[in-house]
Amino acid sequence: MQITTKIVQAGLVTDKTTGAISTPIYQTATFRHPALGESTGYDYSRTKNPTRQAVEIAIATLEEGDAGYAFASGMAAITAIAMLYGSGAHLIITEDCYGGTYRVFEKIFKQFGLQVSYVNTADVQAVRSAITGDTRAIFLETPTNPLMKIADIQALVALAKEHQLQTIVDNTFLTPYLQKPLSLGADIVIHSGSKYLAGHNDVICGLIVAKGAELCSKLAFIQNSTGMILGPQDSWLLLRGIKTLAVRLDRQQENTLIIAQWLEKQKWVNKVYYPGLESSPQKELQNRQASGYGAMLSFEVCDAKLVPQILQRLKLIQFAESLGGVESLITFPFVQTHADIPLEIRLKLGVNEQLLRFSVGIESVTDLIEDLQQAVVHEIS
Ligand SMILES: *Cc1c(COP(=O)(O)O)cnc(C)c1O
Repeated sequence: MQITTKIVQAGLVTDKTTGAISTPIYQTATFRHPALGESTGYDYSRTKNPTRQAVEIAIATLEEGDAGYAFASGMAAITAIAMLYGSGAHLIITEDCYGGTYRVFEKIFKQFGLQVSYVNTADVQAVRSAITGDTRAIFLETPTNPLMKIADIQALVALAKEHQLQTIVDNTFLTPYLQKPLSLGADIVIHSGSKYLAGHNDVICGLIVAKGAELCSKLAFIQNSTGMILGPQDSWLLLRGIKTLAVRLDRQQENTLIIAQWLEKQKWVNKVYYPGLESSPQKELQNRQASGYGAMLSFEVCDAKLVPQILQRLKLIQFAESLGGVESLITFPFVQTHADIPLEIRLKLGVNEQLLRFSVGIESVTDLIEDLQQAVVHEIS
């Protein structure tokens, strides 16, 4: 079955008693036992809830993993990942990772004795050099946020296996529609479902999919023990969002390529970061491991003074954090999503005062380009 079909089938007729097409929202904390020593399979909603289970099965199917787990946010999912590793363990994480990922490891998990190195995961040699006797896992984002660097998943998986490390991929930007890290050998995939999977900027949620019985039972144990679960209402919103993932992303990608090509031609733009551009040195690698380039792009304007002007003058494209929804959003990573990363590191990475990150929506691409055009009124000297 094609993935486009599997996506639409997410959570379809899960309630066999009524045949409801849409999975019902089981807004219940607990479940009645038929008799002593018997259970319907559901005891208490922290442990298992039918609406949450429907979305967990859907994501496990789409990512081609053994089991899925739904969390209250992407950060809760990442927190559950950190809990797989004990004090003294060392993790290698993509250096230009999501700002919240950097913050939770630096400000919280370091206190509990986790050691972390931030490495350019687009450079396999750099990752190899960062491995120590304590390293337990490589946690990567590809494409990265906001600079769209591509990591070679298969090469990193091979390196990880050589050293008995786990490979964890944050697949938020591409989703299983475009990239399936578990099929490329990774052990765990995580998502901020708040982005493309839910797709409508209306819910915060996170997901994990894993392979292997031992890893899955550890994750189920962590999810139930810490209780960072996704509630039934939000599980339903996520399920409903997933159904249109393929058509949304098709349109978003189409728009993104046109906008990226247009931006490349503008005098006020220094640089465009999008792996789908012919000029991108990473296009070939991306073609090998994914079936698309996603709908996130970043661009550097020629003068930092243009940034406040553009953000103020845009009418259609909303100046807001987050990404992946049907509405176009633009952010200024330097002071927003990546503000927790120390200044010198931000500048070294290229997250500077001229960089804007654009999450392209499903609007008419003509309107989006017109909006960008009218926002830039400076005189080029
Ligand atoms: C948003 C995001 C997260 C965090 O997810 P929340 O749902 O906001 O908690 C993690 N990774 C990436 C790549 C993200 O974009």
